[in-house]
Amino acid sequence: MLIDTHSHVNFNAYKNDADEVIRRSLNNNIWMINVGSQYSTSKKAVEIAEEYPEGVYAAVGIHPIHLSRGIFKTKIDAEEIEFETREEEFDYKKYKELAGSKKVVAIGEIGFDYWYRPKTKVKLAEFKNYQKEVFLKQLELAKELNLPVILHCRVAHNDLIETLTPQIKNYKLRGVLHCFTGTLEDAKKYIEMGFYIGFNGLIFKLNQWDEIIKKIPIEKILVETDCPYLTPKPMVGRNEPLYVKYTAERITELKNLNYDEVSKITTQNAKELFKI
Ligand SMILES: [Zn+2]
Repeated sequence: MLIDTHSHVNFNAYKNDADEVIRRSLNNNIWMINVGSQYSTSKKAVEIAEEYPEGVYAAVGIHPIHLSRGIFKTKIDAEEIEFETREEEFDYKKYKELAGSKKVVAIGEIGFDYWYRPKTKVKLAEFKNYQKEVFLKQLELAKELNLPVILHCRVAHNDLIETLTPQIKNYKLRGVLHCFTGTLEDAKKYIEMGFYIGFNGLIFKLNQWDEIIKKIPIEKILVETDCPYLTPKPMVGRNEPLYVKYTAERITELKNLNYDEVSKITTQNAKELFKI
């Protein structure tokens, strides 16, 4: 068994076949957490999770790229896609209501994204401050509901570590650095603070995280897909939760363990963190 700790079957890429994709995964003993990136996709993640008695969970939150209007470019495997982000304000009460569902196991994805450029003429420093302000509000929500956080961080690890450090002094914040892109030093700092580190198909595209995977304990690693993006080898096209097994296989190779151990321990890690 495996748990894809970060999927987006709640996104439009699956609007015609979400149920098929989910069943394919569940039939292969792979569970998933569909993660929201704004209110509409958070709501959708909850609705989807409520349709399945077991194995499908949700996270709700607002991703930093949705705090401003802009163009977001990303790749679905070889194909580059572009979409315009809508500007949304974080409404604490509305997200709290969504998080009332028993299927919601985390607040996420939340964090900092300095790679994304807003379209509006907001100064970068101001946009950074705004990201931090909204991030802190969402941490408050996580604390109030005693939920872990799913953290997104792109070219902003120093600021994220600096922001989290005082937070964990008086509260035992739990969570994961999803789609980890930092250095070994960053990973060590997050682990010291009690966080898990999430890896996905990105580790097939670049080998700069191989050493990190080798060096950090398997007890601190989560596997994920971030589907529909970042399809792991040997698959091509749209990613899906089922393909998380390829990432688990790659981690098995890098850490010189056996596959059963990797799946057992990473599943245990996810169950412990998300209390599922
Ligand atoms: Zn994501």
